[in-house]
Amino acid sequence: MKLSELGTGERGVIVKVSGHGGFRRRIREMGFVRGNKVKVILNAPLRDPIEYEIIGYKISLRRAEASNIEVISESEAKKLLTEREALPALEADDEYIEREMTTLAAERRKEIRVALVGNPNCGKTSLFNMASGSHEHVGNYSGVTVDAKEGLFEYGGYHFRIIDLPGTYSLSAYSPEELYVRKNLVEDTPDVVVNVVDASNLQRNLYLTTQIIDMDLRVVMALNMYDELTAKGDKLDIKQLGYLLGMPIVPTVSRTGEGINDLFDKVIQIYENQDPHLARHIHINHGSELEQSIRAIKDLLKKNTDIRYKYSTRYLSIKYLEDDKEIDSVVEALPNRDEIISVRFREQNRIKEILNSSIGSAMIDAKYAFVQGALAETWEPSQGKRRRNTVTEKIDAFVTNRWAAFPLFFIILYLVFDGTFVLGEYPMKWIEWLVSTFGSFVASVMQEGWLKDLVVDGIIGGVGSVLVFLPNILLLYLFISLLEDSGYMARAAFIMDRLMHKIGLHGKSFIPMIMGFGCNVPAVMATRTIENRKSRLITMLIIPLMSCAGRMPVYILIAGAFFPDNAGLVLLGLYALGILLAIVAAKIMSAFFKEDDLPFVMELPPYRIPTAKSIFRHTWEKGRQYLQKMSGIILVCSMIIWFLGYFPKHNAYDTVQEQQEHSFIGYIGKAMEPVLKPLGFDWKMGVGIVSGVAAKELVVSTLGVMYADDEPVSVASGSMSDDKVGESESSDDSLSAGVSEALAETRLQRALVKSVTPAGALAYMVFILLYFPCIATFIAIKQEGGGWKWAILTAVYTIILAWVAAFLTFNIASLFI
Ligand code: GDP
Ligand code: MG
Repeated sequence: MKLSELGTGERGVIVKVSGHGGFRRRIREMGFVRGNKVKVILNAPLRDPIEYEIIGYKISLRRAEASNIEVISESEAKKLLTEREALPALEADDEYIEREMTTLAAERRKEIRVALVGNPNCGKTSLFNMASGSHEHVGNYSGVTVDAKEGLFEYGGYHFRIIDLPGTYSLSAYSPEELYVRKNLVEDTPDVVVNVVDASNLQRNLYLTTQIIDMDLRVVMALNMYDELTAKGDKLDIKQLGYLLGMPIVPTVSRTGEGINDLFDKVIQIYENQDPHLARHIHINHGSELEQSIRAIKDLLKKNTDIRYKYSTRYLSIKYLEDDKEIDSVVEALPNRDEIISVRFREQNRIKEILNSSIGSAMIDAKYAFVQGALAETWEPSQGKRRRNTVTEKIDAFVTNRWAAFPLFFIILYLVFDGTFVLGEYPMKWIEWLVSTFGSFVASVMQEGWLKDLVVDGIIGGVGSVLVFLPNILLLYLFISLLEDSGYMARAAFIMDRLMHKIGLHGKSFIPMIMGFGCNVPAVMATRTIENRKSRLITMLIIPLMSCAGRMPVYILIAGAFFPDNAGLVLLGLYALGILLAIVAAKIMSAFFKEDDLPFVMELPPYRIPTAKSIFRHTWEKGRQYLQKMSGIILVCSMIIWFLGYFPKHNAYDTVQEQQEHSFIGYIGKAMEPVLKPLGFDWKMGVGIVSGVAAKELVVSTLGVMYADDEPVSVASGSMSDDKVGESESSDDSLSAGVSEALAETRLQRALVKSVTPAGALAYMVFILLYFPCIATFIAIKQEGGGWKWAILTAVYTIILAWVAAFLTFNIASLFI
């Protein structure tokens, strides 16, 4: 009997709860667990909700919700007991009845309803006959337009009621068969679904599986025609595939009956919740754009509690976005339907713009990408009969080839970085020119004084020095978007997956790490594509060890001064050191994170030629985020650094160095000297380190000021925060036009060689590589990681790491050079 059918005052014992996973979880949390006693407080015929008492609490349930809960009622128990003549007439006391209700509920629970779902000709009917055949009662009954067969049999102490549903390729609302199967799964949800899959045609069969996954049901997969798979010589990692899909898989041959017992053993285990390891609810990842649309609809649907008992809201959202006719009418009846309709309209247009296809076909592509990715990881078709049919398969044969994959990958990476810097140089020059022109214009109209210095040097100079990197960042984004939209990026992640697993990460962590070589900030933002929280956090935390472009000027300056013959080697060594330490850090951190590390599928979408429009949108979208998040922070930091270098008593000294020495930043540098001495640095280098906190590019210009020989103060204020502003000829405040940048740099290099040992210089580069990434990255980690905790952790560990590494470098190098 259904719980909703119990009258006021009547008692019952819960047999089972059916429906989709989300509903069952929620109901279970309320206490509606099998074997629990429930009493009806008030059930008036036309009143909704109904009031119940369970485990001492009063709880209201909607009538529709209560109809998903099966119970043994008092009256039912009495009737059954009378039939069995086990009830001693009217003498039965409450306690006796209650005990009997519990026993009956446990008995009733032994009935498991199983539905067979699968493509046509995958062997459902054979399986059905094999399982139920030798037993009683195999009858036909008619559905509305299509037929389904129901059979009963006993196995393992359970009564099975098994239903052979019509074969379908999909669960959309196109054909009567599809609608029929869906109706059955939603309205008369079986206890366990057996997804019958033709093992000799995995791609197509697993597409249906992805739709069953959306519905959030309890599923066991019967990997049927397993004999054909082995005959072909294919290799399939069944266990791993099961992990990835979140359901147990049992190989079967329904023609001979092989594996059928194992299958129903598994069904019993799943029914009794005895295999939580394999049976977990996963989400098919449809890619960030589609997931955003799904989330938008889902948030609105969630407000309607009265449909949630019936449908998983995620499934409903996906179907609704796909313009499913049946789901349309479900949404039509909701109070907030106007809002939902307009959000669907908006999302459909957005997807059309970005992905250049309808949501419906984008969903299909994403599901196939999921299947493709899951199979690429677990399935190895026999060499002889492997056929490459589609364009994508042909390209993949080369791109993911054992020998070609890595060289190709590194060539593409090289092209991306080289392209970024070569092409980036032109707009970089323009921005430099713009900033310096603007700076000297402002300088010429403002009155002398600290305010002018603040605006020109602090604000325009400081922000300008970071702004010049914007073209590089946009170009990097452009290339990344190209690789993402074409489908290559997914392959790159796939290729790297096995290697990344060795350090406790996933293939998807690799792309952000690579982006870190350009700039750590977009790299941290790119970790969003990693679903697994543990992997995402670790990736974020090790990105600062990837040597970004901002550190390059420091290396060029110092390596050029101290190791002119081996500068390239030193550079390579620094990059390699960063990578090596990142690997070690990742390994250590993954040991610390206690979180579960469940496997997930790396989707392999079909290759396609990206459209200019979508590339532009993606690039712009990322660039906008970067600017939005960083502009304010950079502005504030530039002002702080300027302030520290300018005050106190800016005008009291004749030379730049003297002024710097007696500025706040000078004091900080000096205060740090005892800590820096063991690393072979002097206090001036300490000042460089302090200003590098804002952005590592600033280290060079700061050193330029600190080691300048005898230039007038007015020049220094121009070159302190940024040497680019100072270059302009028209301003009185600027560096004289005759002194070329190159000359200034070699002079700085000579000064450095005079005051630092080569070992100290080497240690300094190591320190600059590793210590505190920069304010912008720090903030990005705080925002993406969801808390200051992670940003502070990064700051602390990188500073300690930098000190230790520099100390070792200095001492070891001192022995040799
Ligand atoms: P349905 O359309 O899903 O109900 O599939 P059927 O049960 O009608 O089977 C389709 C065909 O596949 C029949 O010819 C079966 O004999 C054959 N078949 C079913 N199971 C297996 C199997 O495990 N191995 C092989 N080799 N053939 C099978
Ligand atoms: Mg059939």
